[in-house]
Amino acid sequence: MEAEQNGNARLDPAHGREDRLRKQKLDRTSVLDSAPRNSMRTENGRNDLSKLRVAVVGGGTGGLTLAVALRRHGIVAEVFERTAVLAEVGAAISLTANSVRLLARLGLGDELERVSVEPTEVIYRDWRTGERIAARPIGAQYRVRFGAGFLCMRRAALQQILSRAVGGEHLHLGRGVRHLVESPDGIRVEFTDGRHHDADLVVGADGLHSVVRGSITDEAGPRYSGVSGFRGLVPMSAVPDLPDPHALQAWMGPGKSVLHYPTRGMVNYLAVVDGPGDWPAQGGTLPAAPGELAEHFAGWSAGLLQLLTATEQGDRWALFTQPPLSTWARGRAVLIGDAAHTMLPYHGQGANQTIEDAIVLADALADTPPGEYAVAIERYQHARRARADLIQRSSLDKPSILHLPDGPAATTRNTALREADDHLVWIHDYDAQRPDRGRGIQIDESRDQVFHLV
Ligand SMILES: Cc1cc2nc3c(=O)[nH]c(=O)nc-3n(C[C@H](O)[C@H](O)[C@H](O)COP(=O)(O)OP(=O)(O)OC[C@H]3O[C@@H](n4cnc5c(N)ncnc54)[C@H](O)[C@@H]3O)c2cc1C
Repeated sequence: MEAEQNGNARLDPAHGREDRLRKQKLDRTSVLDSAPRNSMRTENGRNDLSKLRVAVVGGGTGGLTLAVALRRHGIVAEVFERTAVLAEVGAAISLTANSVRLLARLGLGDELERVSVEPTEVIYRDWRTGERIAARPIGAQYRVRFGAGFLCMRRAALQQILSRAVGGEHLHLGRGVRHLVESPDGIRVEFTDGRHHDADLVVGADGLHSVVRGSITDEAGPRYSGVSGFRGLVPMSAVPDLPDPHALQAWMGPGKSVLHYPTRGMVNYLAVVDGPGDWPAQGGTLPAAPGELAEHFAGWSAGLLQLLTATEQGDRWALFTQPPLSTWARGRAVLIGDAAHTMLPYHGQGANQTIEDAIVLADALADTPPGEYAVAIERYQHARRARADLIQRSSLDKPSILHLPDGPAATTRNTALREADDHLVWIHDYDAQRPDRGRGIQIDESRDQVFHLV
């Protein structure tokens, strides 16, 4: 109650509100969902997972992947997405072996391959000369090494594949969640339009500015990281002077960097600049003055500038980060993805870690009797938090490493990059469903952070 008065969507453990809620006229969805619950055991005493009512808040990468994974286990989840159409936030996405192998096990491998391209290499370049500082092959060698591809695709293509697999009847668009109310019997999801939906468990897959997170913890949410970026999607034909346009590349220079990778016929880039010190806007974007991007990168290699100036300059985006939370769950509500661990995009792992979360949570729920969701959540947190925290912290160091001024520190970094032969392993080799295999999590933290660059 108190939190509600503060305008903060807090988990209200029922008490006084319960009576009022019982009296509320139930909407059509809730009438169906509020029918008396049957036992979650079948006649032969086995768990009947089909009776577990899971509500997923957010129809982005995490929410959709979770719904597909639950469905494969016989658990039907209802996904509630705020937007009326699935929006393409950011033009493209790169999925690495650690998530591609999980999606392939859901039966989505062939579809993903059809809409993707594989970068030829990962290349680090000098900002001014364009010199190749270090490079690692991707393609066939990567597949052999990691057992799955490194796939770059349009975000819309990924969303379509996932939403098709969820099934339209379980994806409810235009349903913004405002508030959660927990009672001993379940948890109620209240929508901004006044309707509600009852469930046994709510999964907050509602991204950076998660409402569900505010229901779980008072800890600080994401904050502006001190770096901001410009994004663009450029036809490959418009950048004849960009070297190796089919590679994933990181251009490193004083106070700035550019990451880019190919999608079908296009190059997707993120140009990152230090600052501004404070983010002056409420939202995540600011209109940029004409020519601002080109000004920031004046003096950089001509081939790269061709990429940055090939299309109309877009807004300037704040890049957010989240101090690791001490918990991702409370009662019947649990977080996955950006809602739990917003991270800077330097490892290209935000969506990949989100997919790992979704698969591990689905497995934990399927392996646990439905009434014992708390055990499943505990298992999920135990399996996921250390890894996500580590990648989150490691991403935070990246701007300072990529943005070094020319001089001895940059030279040391470049030497380390050339000599590191296994810097992709700790993230890409990890199998979230078989964490004891592979070398993913057993990294030596004493080694220079430069090994964790991509
Ligand atoms: C510039 C940039 C580039 C990136 N590139 C990559 C990359 O190449 N590879 C990679 O792995 N990651 C990348 N990421 C990160 C990646 O985009 C995110 O980590 C990932 O999308 C998180 O998935 P999610 O499901 O948690 O959240 P989202 O995908 O953000 O989905 C959240 C969904 O919840 C909905 N929602 C929010 N609030 C509510 C509400 N109250 N009620 C109902 N619905 C709600 C939103 O509309 C949205 O659809 C990048 C990020 C940035 C900023």
